[in-house]
Amino acid sequence: MTIQLFVPKFRVDECLAEIRECLERGWTGMGFKTLAFEHAWKTYTGLANAHFLSSNTVGLHLALEVYKKKYGWQDGDEVITTPLTFISSNHAIVYANMKPVFADVDETLCLDPFSIEQRITSRTRAVIFVGIGGNTGHYKKVRELCTRQGLKLILDGAHMAGSRLDGSHVGQDADVSVFSFQAVKNLPTADSGMICFSDAADDHMARQLSWLGINKDTFARTGSQGVYKWMYDVENVGYKYHGNSIMAAIGLVSLKYLDEDNAYRRQLASWYEEEFTGASNILSVPMGPGCESSRHLFQVRVSNREELLQALNERDIYPGVHYRDNTHYQMYADSHGLCPFSHALSEEVVSLPMHMGITRDDVRVIGAAVRELAVYDSGKVAA
Ligand SMILES: *Cc1c(COP(=O)(O)O)cnc(C)c1O
Repeated sequence: MTIQLFVPKFRVDECLAEIRECLERGWTGMGFKTLAFEHAWKTYTGLANAHFLSSNTVGLHLALEVYKKKYGWQDGDEVITTPLTFISSNHAIVYANMKPVFADVDETLCLDPFSIEQRITSRTRAVIFVGIGGNTGHYKKVRELCTRQGLKLILDGAHMAGSRLDGSHVGQDADVSVFSFQAVKNLPTADSGMICFSDAADDHMARQLSWLGINKDTFARTGSQGVYKWMYDVENVGYKYHGNSIMAAIGLVSLKYLDEDNAYRRQLASWYEEEFTGASNILSVPMGPGCESSRHLFQVRVSNREELLQALNERDIYPGVHYRDNTHYQMYADSHGLCPFSHALSEEVVSLPMHMGITRDDVRVIGAAVRELAVYDSGKVAA
């Protein structure tokens, strides 16, 4: 039997009932379920604001545009970011006409606070911190650094639905956090995301910009709902970034099961760790202090990654890689070589199958295969 990296689990009947409600009511767009999902997400996370979007990618872009307007940031101003991420995190900076400045990661695969500090210049405006696989890494040190240096901290929480730090859901002390509910994330819909600003005025601006810059207040103020619906103003060139009720309907169901699913993911992770206890040919990736990870990923490090993947594929086991060093893409080749530790790690990391369909026995089979096939040469990466 084939063992895949990710297989999303949907509670199909419950999803269909939520979607049916949208269809019967004739309300599939923004509003209705999107508002219900925003409310449920705020209740679940304890975050102050939440606006439902069509993806995390657009959310990261929107976060930067809101701050650009608010603080008068200029084109070419700098955002410190990681080379070990999905390309969205870095494209978002380019969408906003700002400059990605790559800092190195540490052994948690998240940005290293010391490396961030070395990259700060007079044009640095923000840091995008990616919680890889749900790991909070050294987030608290990054938070302190950003506060001290007057930088905005943007949390790319694409893997972090249900991740907690010191018992609180992540994002509460970020300036803005952005989550992904894409098809294979740990809170799956099909494509959607949530942007959560700490400041209500920023949330308000994001809502305007995510719907083409339309200022809904103007018609709300007329108090004649339905009569003067066209009497809105348009203050900015906004985007078509908001989410819809069909996605929110699925999200509402997935959210109900998030804690249960994440608990099972953490169980899988501890089974994997048991498999690798004492194995000197496999390095595990440590969680940051105080982290209760969503365990979107379970990652290990090996020196013979390509051979290992090939051999596992031959046994019908299909792990993944998160991620290739982004500075090795043509788009970001200017920064090639600036983050040697990230680069070395990007050649070692393997993400083992992690989803609700993986059993204890699957972990035994995968664990035995990896123990047998992995090689670790500790001389290759100087930490
Ligand atoms: C998936 C992902 C994104 C983008 O999320 P979408 O909802 O697909 O736009 C951004 N950052 C990271 C780290 C991701 O894994």
